[in-house]
Amino acid sequence: MMYAVLFDIDGTLLQTGGAGRLAFAETFSEEFDLDDLTSKVPFAGRSDRAIAEDLMRLGGIEVSQKNWQRFLTCYCQRILDTLTRTTGGVLPGIAELLDSLAQLEDVAVGLLTGNVRQGAQAKLAYYGLANWFAFGGFGDELTDRNEIAASAVRAATEYIEESGTGRPLDLNGVMVIGDTKNDVECAQSIGAVAVAVATGGASLEELSLSKPDFAYPDLTDTTDLLAMITDASRNGSRSAAAHG
Ligand SMILES: [Mg+2]
Repeated sequence: MMYAVLFDIDGTLLQTGGAGRLAFAETFSEEFDLDDLTSKVPFAGRSDRAIAEDLMRLGGIEVSQKNWQRFLTCYCQRILDTLTRTTGGVLPGIAELLDSLAQLEDVAVGLLTGNVRQGAQAKLAYYGLANWFAFGGFGDELTDRNEIAASAVRAATEYIEESGTGRPLDLNGVMVIGDTKNDVECAQSIGAVAVAVATGGASLEELSLSKPDFAYPDLTDTTDLLAMITDASRNGSRSAAAHG
């Protein structure tokens, strides 16, 4: 059976230094002629579509498919530029963790993010991480993170089927790694192992309130995490003591 590890992007894999928020603000200014309302809406752990719809409501703009498409087109053009004007980076331990996971042949690595697909690709490409992720769940159509989690599992299932290993995804063998309580809760909603990391703003104490299976200050020491993944992918998730 195959094991899947799903990563959040902002605050988990990388920090953009506010490129996403800036692209939101500039899109609403240029395309909808609105003042910057981004400070009035929470961004962390939410889908781009949910954030955009909040900003439309605040600005008195009709929440419609047409306005979403207007937003999306302008945002995807802007994000490439705002990434060059903000200062961010890949978070500690990420390069090593991705490299370790890539060496495990029974493990598929994907994304579970509120970013729209093109925005995710832009951020990952800008910070040199684009090649590590073959599939994911994204925030283009869905506003509810639990639904994005379910769509990420469907994408993992399809990817693994198409890769022709002959081994299906173990639906009890999914791990979600993220930096907000929303990540922990969406992991729990799909029965996944929830890993919280305090590199995105929320403290370990705040994150522990949501009862993740693992919680780390950062991802520099993931020995026990990798041991658990290796054990679960080799022997099946039910033998993994850390789960549940
Ligand atoms: Mg995040």
